[in-house]
Amino acid sequence: MRRPLSTQPRRFSRGARSSGGSLKSRLIIGIVLALFSIGAYFFGTQEVYNPITEENQRVSMSVDQEIQLGLQAAPQMAQQFGGLHPDSRAQALVDEVGQRIVQNSAAGETDYQFEFHLLADNKTINAFALPGGQIFITAALYERFQTEGQLAGVLGHEIGHVVGRHSAEQMAKARLTEGLAGAAGVVVTNPDNPQSSAQMAAVVAQMVNMKHGRDDELESDRLGMRFMADAGYDPRALLTVMEILAESNGGQAQPEFFSTHPNPERRSERIQEAIEAEFPNGVPDDLIQ
Ligand SMILES: [Zn+2]
Repeated sequence: MRRPLSTQPRRFSRGARSSGGSLKSRLIIGIVLALFSIGAYFFGTQEVYNPITEENQRVSMSVDQEIQLGLQAAPQMAQQFGGLHPDSRAQALVDEVGQRIVQNSAAGETDYQFEFHLLADNKTINAFALPGGQIFITAALYERFQTEGQLAGVLGHEIGHVVGRHSAEQMAKARLTEGLAGAAGVVVTNPDNPQSSAQMAAVVAQMVNMKHGRDDELESDRLGMRFMADAGYDPRALLTVMEILAESNGGQAQPEFFSTHPNPERRSERIQEAIEAEFPNGVPDDLIQ
């Protein structure tokens, strides 16, 4: 999976702009979030049709708000996992594979703004998506991959969480008070003030560690499988990712990731079924492993 790649270092292009933004812009985001919490409380959430999952779902944020919240939270989330990985080639590969999946699948037809980041943490096996399209994978997981297809499988799964709007759905389920606390966290966030950043990080961590339902996970596996196959990757690579996860699970405790995801064996069965449904005549053998 090592190909010559551009070595331009990646930063949070949008995040940098927003975290460097004025108190005024943070205030506006906070007020918008607070208003939405109150709106959700009094008027209920909106039921909207999701053309990707082909289901109606209850959310209280617009796609733009999801994107803003994700960009706002991205630097703090990265910090929790040792920051961005210094290897710019690996960083570029993660983004290249992610963008390839987006551009060649239904995910690219949405308004979400995807950015893919490799985190420096080489102890914690984890991958996660913030609402709106900021996607992260730790070095600990990345280093276990033997093929580019396995990386594509994990990124496809996280893209599935974004376009499935799973975080937005969960936030809509959360209570008014939690929404207001989140809004306060956004307002006080200041990159030069560690205390307020820590507060924001706590809010974000809470958001990300909110356990996705088992159904959300299985839906992300199905979507990820479809997206990676649309982009030319062999979807069976996702099955080998499950083997990697199962092996890791037997080793050290990896609470974050494994407490929020169904066990790999169970996921494998469902992924296998989804692959057979997608490719009734068998998976073509010219796909990228
Ligand atoms: Zn997941």
